[in-house]
Amino acid sequence: MIFNHRRNDFPSLSHKYNGHQLIYLDNAATTQKPYAVIKAMNDFYVTSNAPIHRGIYRLAEEATYSYEMVRQQTANFINAVSPSEIVFTHGVTHGINIVAASWAYHMLHEGDEILITQLEHHSNILPWQDLAKKKGILLKWIPLRKDGTLDVTTLPQLLTNRTKLVAFTMHSNVLGDINSLVSHSDYQFLTKSYHSSQQDFISLLIEQSHKKGARVLLDAAQAAPHEKIDVQQLTCDFLVFSAHKMLGPTGCGILYIKQELHPHIKPASLGGGMVYNVTQQEYSSRNMPSLLEAGTPHTAGVIGLGAALTYLTEKINFIELQEQETALCNLFLMQAQSIPNIQILGPNAFNKKHLISFSIKTIHSHDVAAYLDNYNICVRAGNHCAQPLHQALEITNSVRISLYIYNTDRELKKLIKLLSKLI
Ligand code: PLP
Repeated sequence: MIFNHRRNDFPSLSHKYNGHQLIYLDNAATTQKPYAVIKAMNDFYVTSNAPIHRGIYRLAEEATYSYEMVRQQTANFINAVSPSEIVFTHGVTHGINIVAASWAYHMLHEGDEILITQLEHHSNILPWQDLAKKKGILLKWIPLRKDGTLDVTTLPQLLTNRTKLVAFTMHSNVLGDINSLVSHSDYQFLTKSYHSSQQDFISLLIEQSHKKGARVLLDAAQAAPHEKIDVQQLTCDFLVFSAHKMLGPTGCGILYIKQELHPHIKPASLGGGMVYNVTQQEYSSRNMPSLLEAGTPHTAGVIGLGAALTYLTEKINFIELQEQETALCNLFLMQAQSIPNIQILGPNAFNKKHLISFSIKTIHSHDVAAYLDNYNICVRAGNHCAQPLHQALEITNSVRISLYIYNTDRELKKLIKLLSKLI
């Protein structure tokens, strides 16, 4: 696997700095873009640019058609029942804030509870903290242990009849797949307590949340780029992901809202596009999804998202991708064993799928990233917008490498060599 043929599709990967080829290992933050996405957005501006949902002329109608076709394509990508369940947002952060403002703010009341985990990215914490303060709601956390396992034995106490929303990430952006962070014995405890036959923690948590009458929001920011998402199979109520983490442009994201919830959704922003009729005194709103898409959207971004989804659907087999990424993770983990003072974060060191976070006892993560940058290697350093997670691990920062479809074993060998040299 020395050469990865997909690299030719990504113009940015051929750029050199200081004589070194780019080694891009910050894919969990944002991915590089293939020609197909760049071209689709460029073509849109060159040949099809016009406002959508407003114009009566041909160009505007074509732009509207292309935009709505991507909505249908996105619905197919995650197996939504209807394109009306797909709302285009600026990204995951925006999507979660919309759920807080357009659904939770109206549907949750004083004394109600929201349950999250200590793994969450700040964007799945802050909107709920804020709402809890405004409405007298209790925000509860499934705690993370110092070893990086999720203490799911607390679930039977935390999930109650007052829980109205359970919002959690499918893959932590620091420790990886949430299912791999639940120990075998803790999982057995849960299946016995709940008499559940679910095969993994995500399914079990959704099942039990629904039994208590709570709605479920899944943060798929780190899952959607790497695995097939099927919202009907998951039975989640809300699901969010970002185009820029899966080959698409920045400023474009997806919020899935299950159809049965649509009667309870109120607009999050007010203005053109979401409105049906306006008088001096009042307005009436359009239906979903226009209801949540006030103003002129990022049309070219949505067109870019469409091209990214086409690339992923036509060129990538998710099972093969997962095998490739796991093999690369294992290669790094094997070789890292011989480097002193590297501590891989999380349990099951050899159960990493597409990202690995580590800390080096004697060197700050920023210094590691700055050193690697001299060799044109991009890694993430800091708290990765997950400070409560780092607090549980009793550290303040870490280095993260995250892989995607174009990474190679050669790149990871070079990384290991430089880390050994640095340490
Ligand atoms: N949730 C997770 C798990 C993430 O990794 C990220 C971004 O890194 C986000 C949410 C926020 O995504 P965005 O910055 O695209 O809004």
